[in-house]
Amino acid sequence: MSNDFEKNLAPYALFSAKTLGREHIESSAKLRTEFQRDRERIIHSTAFRRLEYKTQVFVNHEGDMYRTRLTHTIEVAQIARAAARALRINEDLTEAISLAHDLGHTPFGHAGQDVLNICMKDFGGFEHNIQSLRIIDKLENRYASFPGLNLCFETREGLLKKCSITRAKKLGSIGKRFVDKKQSSLEAQLTNVCDEIAYNNHDIQDGIRAKKIFVEQLEDLPLFFNQMNIVLKKFPKLSGSKIVNETVRLIINLLVTDLINNSNKNIKNKGILTSEDVKDSNSLTISFSDDIKKMNIELKRFLYSNLYQHPDVKKMTDQANTIISDLFSAYISDIKLLPSDFYEYNLEKINAGHKERVICDYIAGMTDRFAQQEHNRLF
Ligand code: MG
Repeated sequence: MSNDFEKNLAPYALFSAKTLGREHIESSAKLRTEFQRDRERIIHSTAFRRLEYKTQVFVNHEGDMYRTRLTHTIEVAQIARAAARALRINEDLTEAISLAHDLGHTPFGHAGQDVLNICMKDFGGFEHNIQSLRIIDKLENRYASFPGLNLCFETREGLLKKCSITRAKKLGSIGKRFVDKKQSSLEAQLTNVCDEIAYNNHDIQDGIRAKKIFVEQLEDLPLFFNQMNIVLKKFPKLSGSKIVNETVRLIINLLVTDLINNSNKNIKNKGILTSEDVKDSNSLTISFSDDIKKMNIELKRFLYSNLYQHPDVKKMTDQANTIISDLFSAYISDIKLLPSDFYEYNLEKINAGHKERVICDYIAGMTDRFAQQEHNRLF
C-alpha cells in the first residue's frame, strides 16, 4: 500500500505502514491502508449491527428519537475524526477505535454489565471493554482464514482503555502497556475524550427530551449557562428545543477546540516527537485545559445525579437485573437451551469447562429486544 495517504500526518501519529501487524498474517490491500481495512471490518461485523438495538441511556422501545449505542458510536467517530484531522494524527485509526469502542456492551447499558459481572464473579467476571476485545479477536465468526476480525495491533491496543495488571499479564503483548505503565497512543486517548464529549452532550438533549432534566437546572452549570447566553444574544427570539440544540452545538465546539489547542500545547511542552514519546510520557497528552476540565466534570456530575440516577432511568436497572440473571441461570441449568448452532460452535469450550463464559458471551451479544423476547420465551 502506498504511504501517500498518511504523508501529511504529524511524526507522533501512528502510521499504517509501521503497524505491528495482525495476529494472522495477511497480504496488504492495494487501495487501502491497514487502519482503513480495520475500520471497514468493524462496520461489517455482526456486533456493530447489533449496536442499533442496544441501550445507551434510554431503552430502545422508549422512543425512536433517543440515542442508541449505534448512534452514540457514530457521534463519537464524527467528533474524534474531526479532532484527529485537526491534530494531524491518524484519522482512520481513530475512527476504527471509535467505531469498535462500545462493541462489548451488554443489553440494557451499564445496568446489564453490572448484573453479568455479578453472574460471572466466580468465573473471571465481565467487563465491556475487555469484551470488545474478545469480540474482535475471537467471537466474530465470518472469515475463512481466522477467528475474529484479525485487526491490527494498534486498533486492538487502542480499544483496551483500562485493565488490571493481573488481567493485562494474561493478555500478553496487548496488555503489556499496562504492565509497563505506559500511555496509550494519541489516537486512543483522543477517542476516550471524544466518547465523553459525545455522551455528555447527547445525554443533555435526550434527558431534556425525556423530561428527566430541565433547562432551568442546567442553567446552574457555567458550561451550559455561558453558551446558552451566547445563543440567546445572537437569536433573542429563539425558543424551545432549538435553544438547547444551539447551546449543545456551541458546547461541543468549545470542548473540541479547547481539546485540540490544549493537546497541541501539551505536545509542544512535553517535547513529543514520536509515538514512542507519547507512550513514555508520565501523563495523558490529549487533555482539556484546567478551566474546561473543571466545567466538564461539573456537567458529568450533574448528569450522574440527575439523569443516570433518575428513578425512571434506574427502573431499567431492575428490569436488566431480572432478565439477565434469569437468562444466565436458565442456560446454566440447561445449556441445551442455547441455539443449537451456537452450542455446536462452542462445544469444545463447553467441554473444556468454560460453559459459563460461553453463556456470558451469548447474553452479552444480545440486543435489548432479543433479551426481552428470550426471557418471555423461557419464563
Ligand atoms: Mg461510548
